[in-house]
Amino acid sequence: MTILNLLHASPTLFISLITLLGLVVGSFLNVVIHRLPIMMKRDWQNQCDELYESPQKYTEPYNLLTPGSACPHCQHAITAWENIPVISYVILRGQCRVCGAGISPRYPLIEAISALLCGFAAWHFGFGLTTLGALVLIWALLTLTVIDFDTQLLPDDITLPLIWTGLLFNLYHTFTTLPDALLGAVFGYFSLWSVYWLFKLLTGKEGMGYGDFKLLAALGAWLGWQLLPLIIILSSLLGSIIGIFLIVALKRGRNLAIPFGPYLACAGLIALFYGNTLTQQYLLLLNP
Ligand SMILES: [Zn+2]
Repeated sequence: MTILNLLHASPTLFISLITLLGLVVGSFLNVVIHRLPIMMKRDWQNQCDELYESPQKYTEPYNLLTPGSACPHCQHAITAWENIPVISYVILRGQCRVCGAGISPRYPLIEAISALLCGFAAWHFGFGLTTLGALVLIWALLTLTVIDFDTQLLPDDITLPLIWTGLLFNLYHTFTTLPDALLGAVFGYFSLWSVYWLFKLLTGKEGMGYGDFKLLAALGAWLGWQLLPLIIILSSLLGSIIGIFLIVALKRGRNLAIPFGPYLACAGLIALFYGNTLTQQYLLLLNP
């Protein structure tokens, strides 16, 4: 019996392995979430320096692999056993082994969320290409959510490849047909693009960014145009509830800039698992 046959035959083994994979990849997502925005800003600075013919500010390499992980307080290099997802955090009681500085609970939290979502996808979709696709989408959406929350940026380095991989997966009808995926990408982009320009012409303000259009295009490419209305309704609903809560609870002004990306990503995740069921439900409500 090959490993693939074994995974196919035992759902418990399959779900456990995918959960473990989610934990390990979650640890890598933490690196991407922390470093990608810094890499982008360094790149922009270097491009500006080049344009103005001034010496480049950043010359030493900085990417997802180099330099190795170190404690931001004492610069002690993180060893492999200090880097085991969730477990190391618990053993170290959330502190650097050398200087005792606190480690953000966000790291184990993101690892745990990745593991739970991956395990859920393995249970929901079962052994096959659909689960593999769901994992890719989950990891991208989780990364985009936290980066947008931190920096109000949705990096093209993630959103654009997400559009192409969505179309590729649907080449073999993984989540939807290729024509529906293609229309999803186009309608996804232009629906928010039109809202953006309408809002800008009416109020003179920018309500969202181009990253949001690309993210909705990606969700359309993965899930098909039929799920776009549901994603827009769900994300607006989540946005209004959480937005009102933030304005009231934190006594922030109504002009508080809240990134839209996290809501789109959450709505996309709900649509990934329950999109077709929910769409049927609300179509029944509209057309009893
Ligand atoms: Zn330290």
